[in-house]
Amino acid sequence: MTREECAALDAVDPLAAFRKEFALPEGVVYLDGNSLGALPARTPERVRQVVEEEWGRELIRSWNEAGWFEQPYRLGRRIAPLIGAGPEEVVVCDTTSVNLFKVLTAALRLRPGRHTVLGDGAAFPTDLYIAEGVTGLFEGARSVLTTPGELDRHLDADVAVVVLSHVDYRTGELLDMPGITARVQAAGALMIWDVCHSVGALPIELDASNADFAVGCTYKYLNAGPGAPAFLYVARRHLAAGPRQPLSGWFGHARPFAFEPGYDPREGIGRFLTSSPSLLGQAALGTSLDIWERADLDAVRAKSLALTDLFIALVEGLEGIEVATPREHARRGSQVALRHADGYPVVQALIERGVIGDFRAPDLMRFGFTPLYLSYVDVWDAARQLAEVLETGEWRAERFGRRGEVT
Ligand SMILES: *Cc1c(COP(=O)(O)O)cnc(C)c1O
Repeated sequence: MTREECAALDAVDPLAAFRKEFALPEGVVYLDGNSLGALPARTPERVRQVVEEEWGRELIRSWNEAGWFEQPYRLGRRIAPLIGAGPEEVVVCDTTSVNLFKVLTAALRLRPGRHTVLGDGAAFPTDLYIAEGVTGLFEGARSVLTTPGELDRHLDADVAVVVLSHVDYRTGELLDMPGITARVQAAGALMIWDVCHSVGALPIELDASNADFAVGCTYKYLNAGPGAPAFLYVARRHLAAGPRQPLSGWFGHARPFAFEPGYDPREGIGRFLTSSPSLLGQAALGTSLDIWERADLDAVRAKSLALTDLFIALVEGLEGIEVATPREHARRGSQVALRHADGYPVVQALIERGVIGDFRAPDLMRFGFTPLYLSYVDVWDAARQLAEVLETGEWRAERFGRRGEVT
């Protein structure tokens, strides 16, 4: 495809108008929205308003008058349509790791007599670390690692819970949520989905897939900003049975402002709260969701597949490059991972040219495609820059080999 053909696709792109909702720097093609989403243009003003008006002027009155207390629920109801959940099944709080700790512990308690938590050994490591932490608290429990392809071989009568990422953070592989959930449940276990890399990237159907629990973050495709709070989902059939999570803090209490000495959990999803909400991050999430409420997720998915198809077609065959992301649409999230033996300096050289992707050891260059703020021409330009970096060999320069704390 030529650059002119890409420009023609942009001219008829139904999502093109969303680009101006984001404050992206000039001269940058941002392909890392799968790691830290771009800044929505209205977020700075909204955060300023919460800081100066709700906090600075109204002070503690804002807990009631600005609806601070309700915010974790209100934001949960707004995330629900993005993940195929009911409004009462989602709440915004804490971080993905902390939320996984809570739902995994609640899930293990629902399967007494079973001891195994099954996970993907290649999963985002925090999920594995949390599984280790949780199983360490239960007599006889253990964490077993496999691959999604080998899952069925491990689904024996000791498996209590399976935790999987809907989209793999490295390869961008998308798993079959309803199919896997059904097989896990047929074996008597519960299914927890981590949707960090799929929320805002494609339509998700937690209810229709009969998922038991889910966790996800808001700072990737949802663009809520660094450290913005995460969310958790609990299927209503479990909520009805009063599940118990271990971080029984005051915000999960039925009457937090009665300051009673004993813990009495709230009814419903609120019992999964622990602490005061981080309201500045939540304010940023609110402006981001204003954008998502106007975006058609099917259009987002269609454009995401078109952008990733385009990028794969333009870069495959480049010297030293191997496409690690599945070709089949049904197995692809919204990122493309390319293997290259010297991926780290190649990504650094690309960043110097204004094309921002990232690198995951040992050899994966990751490029995230965010249909709300990327054009077809952006993708064409990024592929051209990658070809030039490889053709010129400029990535061999010494300065591209130095590693920062965060890759
Ligand atoms: C980004 C990500 C996280 C982030 O965890 P935090 O506790 O919010 O820092 C967790 N799991 C997966 C799969 C992720 O992609």
